[in-house]
Amino acid sequence: TRKILMHVGPETIDYDVLLGGVKGDVGFTSKEFVDAMSFSLKFLRKLMGVSESYQPFIIPGGGTSAMESVTSLLRKGDKVLVVSNGVFGNRWIDIFSRYPVNVKALKAKAGYYVKPEEIEEEVKKDNYTMVTMTHVETSTGVREPIAEVTKRIRDYVDLIVVDGVASVGGEEVRAEDWKVDVFLTASQKAIGTPPGAGLLVVSENATKRLGEDSVAGYYLNLKNWLGVMQSMEKGKASYFSTLPVHLILMIKKAFELIETEGIENRIRRHEIVSSAVRKGIEALGLEIVAKTPEAYSNTVTGVMLKKANPNDLLSMSLAEGIEFAPGVHPDLAGKYFRIGHMGWVNINDVISAIAVIERVLSKLGEPINFGEGVKAVQEYLINGI
Ligand code: PMP
Repeated sequence: TRKILMHVGPETIDYDVLLGGVKGDVGFTSKEFVDAMSFSLKFLRKLMGVSESYQPFIIPGGGTSAMESVTSLLRKGDKVLVVSNGVFGNRWIDIFSRYPVNVKALKAKAGYYVKPEEIEEEVKKDNYTMVTMTHVETSTGVREPIAEVTKRIRDYVDLIVVDGVASVGGEEVRAEDWKVDVFLTASQKAIGTPPGAGLLVVSENATKRLGEDSVAGYYLNLKNWLGVMQSMEKGKASYFSTLPVHLILMIKKAFELIETEGIENRIRRHEIVSSAVRKGIEALGLEIVAKTPEAYSNTVTGVMLKKANPNDLLSMSLAEGIEFAPGVHPDLAGKYFRIGHMGWVNINDVISAIAVIERVLSKLGEPINFGEGVKAVQEYLINGI
């Protein structure tokens, strides 16, 4: 049967995007590939809300390679403050622990986010070179108010880095207005392409720091990729290490579709879809993992279960045609699952998702308001938007 993938990336991918990469004769120095890179690098600036002063990068890997590549901006002994709201916030700590830099972390409890005033207080206490944040923490679906934080901390730190892996393409991102130095994402999430690439924009100030004295290694050293990106953007082939050619053809196609849809319209669609998901979940009487409404994200919703085993819900939903994602936050292990709603998702997918959850949980004996979920979504779509 046809399946809807409402996991946390990859999710169901548009066929035109997939077909964009079905080419048997495209080499890494070909005009077709160089043009795709040039277009994609330029469009990445628009998607991130930055001017030409920012340097775009598309590198192999994904979210983690993009994250690790920011070590290109650090020197031995630098102090880094990690703001962590969950599993992917903690990943920054694991990455920096591999390098000769000093790491301090501010951590929120599962379902919460570190408050802007707390971050402000900490950066005023010490001399941090870099602060890292996670825009949408995928393990819980919690969104950090990046604009508010950067307003408070900009004057106290050299570099502000934001992991937008679960946000770019589905949430408003205005990296330049928010004075963020590095905004990064991965191909498999709200951009709606397969996994395999990390995408970043880097401020002029930060780009100037790329040099011989960074703590970065070889492959993920942005200094080694800089010339390639600059050359490709100008339409000239260049090589440091082979890029995922066919994926980048798909990224180009996805970016064309995003341009046609309009970035604002795409974000609005994600807002409507995520609101509809929450209406359905709440009407069923289930609790959302994100504890405060201002922290609800457009892209991921964590759902607590009282009685049913989330693994049973996942396997039975899959048998009914929709694949959701397991919960991964260790503090909530076995108590929740996640609905991914990003990329090419639409309101009919939400109706199907809530209907499946309603059916499956009813069979599993979870106490829910049976029949109220789909109804609430329908009412929202008619009267609520
Ligand atoms: N950051 C966030 C917020 C993520 O959701 C993920 C992936 N789930 C990553 C980083 C890591 O990305 P990848 O798995 O592509 O390395």
